[in-house]
Amino acid sequence: MTQRLLVIFDLDETLVRATDNPTLEPPDFILYGFRVRRRPQLENLLRSVSRFADIGVWSSATDNYVEEMVRKIVPADVSLRFAWARSRCTRRLDTENLEEYWVKDLKKVKKLGYSLERILIVDDSPEKIERHYGNHVRIEPFYGDLEDRVLSRLAAYLERIASVENVRTLEKRGWHHSTDEVRPDISAE
Ligand SMILES: [Mg+2]
Repeated sequence: MTQRLLVIFDLDETLVRATDNPTLEPPDFILYGFRVRRRPQLENLLRSVSRFADIGVWSSATDNYVEEMVRKIVPADVSLRFAWARSRCTRRLDTENLEEYWVKDLKKVKKLGYSLERILIVDDSPEKIERHYGNHVRIEPFYGDLEDRVLSRLAAYLERIASVENVRTLEKRGWHHSTDEVRPDISAE
């Protein structure tokens, strides 16, 4: 039997926009001085995905921030398998500009009993998943646009691929262009 899929969501610019820029008006709420807006359709996405997959959150922000953010954005009827923060990330040094950055190493998730073939991580920052590109569903960053519809498309896409035995083998780079509709123009390729 195929193992239940695990979908891990990043927070900043993936599910929410948090900024100290006062032009983000109106914010949905304020957290640690940041004005925060939920990405449109966020609650629908989490509810819909929780029907066919386990859900985790993994952000490279601080532990307190992640804990409070999750409390604010995850509906009460959606349960998370985990909500991890920076303390679970691995620190790396970019040898070109000598800047540190954080990596989400999926080996840590394997320890919870998930095989890599059944893990997807949705994140706007590819460098944070550098060791596991095959698991990465890259998402356009969200900066607060109320017309953003990416999460609805994402929910439909995840549902379509949820039963694929090894999600790492899927070409996921063009997912946001994929659609259930019949597109006659495709046959012209
Ligand atoms: Mg992000």
